[in-house]
Amino acid sequence: MINLVLFGPPGAGKGTQAERLKEKYELVHISTGDVFRFNIKNKTDLGKQAQSYIDGGKLVPDVVTIAMLKDEVEKNKNAKGFIFDGFPRTTAQAAALDELLAKKNTTVSAMLALEVDDNILVERVLERGKTSGRKDDANEHIIRKRITVYYEETAILKSYYQKDDKYFGVDGEGSVPEITQRLGQVIDKFVATGRM
Ligand code: AMP
Repeated sequence: MINLVLFGPPGAGKGTQAERLKEKYELVHISTGDVFRFNIKNKTDLGKQAQSYIDGGKLVPDVVTIAMLKDEVEKNKNAKGFIFDGFPRTTAQAAALDELLAKKNTTVSAMLALEVDDNILVERVLERGKTSGRKDDANEHIIRKRITVYYEETAILKSYYQKDDKYFGVDGEGSVPEITQRLGQVIDKFVATGRM
């Protein structure tokens, strides 16, 4: 199985790249942000639990997020592999993912981190906000809060994956196809050496 974690701050291009990589490598794409938004739209209990955190640019509590992620993985029993987009965001989530994949006799193959300058991130998210309908994309204060949360709570995962030699930083600036190509080069190298 190939199990990729796409990593990076809001606006880094995780969702866009995940959509392209899932076709290329036949992976199931799980975006925790998308699952939360779907649940908010459909007014489910999960949506109600998550909404205030998302609107404020904060992380949804681990217990809620981990339970949801487990469900999403279990829904795809025949998957050849996964591309996790927006998960894990905390060490507890990373540990839960390790445990979940270990039960399936597999593991995280690599964390691919998209590196983008903060000002470009804000510009990109504000641009996306014009059409995404996302409240958390429309307000610069909330966008900057989300970027701060990323550096304070999520960036620590770099060392979590680095210790197993699974962290790969990729330049996330440039055209969408250029970035897909850079990510593909890293993945193909892994596949060729049998590490995936
Ligand atoms: P995203 O679509 O990845 O930008 O996520 C949008 C929002 O959903 C985040 O700002 C968080 O409030 C929430 N969220 C998504 N994924 C997670 C996660 N793994 N842990 C906690 N909160 C999350």
